[in-house]
Amino acid sequence: MKNITLLGATGSIGKSTLSIVELHPDKFNIFAMSANKNWRLMEKLCIKFKPKLAVMADENSASKLRNALDNDTEVLSGNNALCAIAENSETDYVMAAIVGAAGMPSALAAANAGKRVMLANKESLVMAGDIFIKAIKNSGAELIPVDSEHSAIFQCLQGGSLYSNNSLTYTENINSLSKIQLTASGGPFLKMSFEKMQSVTPEQACTHPNWSMGKKISVDSATMMNKGLEVIEAHYLFSLGASQIDVVVHPQSIVHSSVFFNDGSTVSQLGVPDMRTAISYSMSYPNRIESGVKQVDLTKQKLEFFSPDYQKFPCLDLAFQVLRKGGSHMLALNAANEVAVEAFLKGKINFLDISKVIEETLGKITSFDSKVLKDVVEKDQQARLIALEAVNCYA
Ligand code: NAD
Ligand code: MG
Repeated sequence: MKNITLLGATGSIGKSTLSIVELHPDKFNIFAMSANKNWRLMEKLCIKFKPKLAVMADENSASKLRNALDNDTEVLSGNNALCAIAENSETDYVMAAIVGAAGMPSALAAANAGKRVMLANKESLVMAGDIFIKAIKNSGAELIPVDSEHSAIFQCLQGGSLYSNNSLTYTENINSLSKIQLTASGGPFLKMSFEKMQSVTPEQACTHPNWSMGKKISVDSATMMNKGLEVIEAHYLFSLGASQIDVVVHPQSIVHSSVFFNDGSTVSQLGVPDMRTAISYSMSYPNRIESGVKQVDLTKQKLEFFSPDYQKFPCLDLAFQVLRKGGSHMLALNAANEVAVEAFLKGKINFLDISKVIEETLGKITSFDSKVLKDVVEKDQQARLIALEAVNCYA
């Protein structure tokens, strides 16, 4: 029986994680869970899963939840409490499924505490990858990808590569790896003209053709920044350079990613687009368990692959650029993207302004070596201020 801390329980990944726990009550127990403000859903989840601890990041929502609950769950609030449930000695596995930079400190706390970190929050690695990987290595934690593409690569490398027992361990597979290829669905605007993309609404951007996800990652998929963030995520997870990471557009989202070996062999992982496969694998690794996902029927599938259009989706190009430049640029890319996506969702800027805000921020950020968390947080704030100024110019 593994005790799980579920960070981001009310989100898309959070709910799917709970569905796996429900399928396997003999294997997993929800020890703690968190949300931001949605205390009504948290109330229902606390009654159902009876966690020992529940954290609402928002103080006000925490007191509402506390008043509403009459079970044994202790309700805490604030960012320190998020870190406390991630590093608690009673928990074994931490699902890091908070969206955005807000998820970094608690994911890092789990890494420092030597937990199995099931990482959905890719932003943690983009913001503070060096610090994060160092924490995993030093504490002897396990880092298991939840993002479907990275789970696919991880599965293709089995018995593969992961950070465990103080080092990055691989089978012989990794030594013969030439490159990896992350698949991208291309998002809802794959076939739309660039001119038309100027006037798309947040609702259109959040309607993903294959995946059902939170709003931020849905917009990231529409700009293809999601793939850009995933390129950087792959760099840290598998210790690969930019030249070894390739992106291919595959509108059907059946092939989740591929590994190309030096003997001419390519290994891919396939499945219907449903995050429960990758989530359950991060929980059951090195074994597999029932996830509730039906198997793909290849006789009913047309599988297409195209090269990405970097001109139409400049965010993807920006991500490759910052990966080549290093630390502070990756951090600024992430911060500016969060500011720009929020402004777009609030109707302040147009869809195509998102990449312009990021590019302007990157032009103004000064380089620094992001080895200490305090500096990362400071630089993140600085990048957000620059991005906000840029947003105001387009608003
Ligand atoms: P979501 O918006 O559906 O859920 C986000 C969760 O984070 C919610 O529980 C929310 O309460 C919590 N949260 C939001 N702001 C917070 C804050 N300031 N402090 C504390 N908690 C806060 O998001 P999602 O789609 O589940 O994505 C979560 C993470 O997983 C993201 O990093 C995303 O990139 C990654 N991811 C998601 C998918 C997917 O299919 N949804 C796939 C791969 C990776
Ligand atoms: Mg993904």
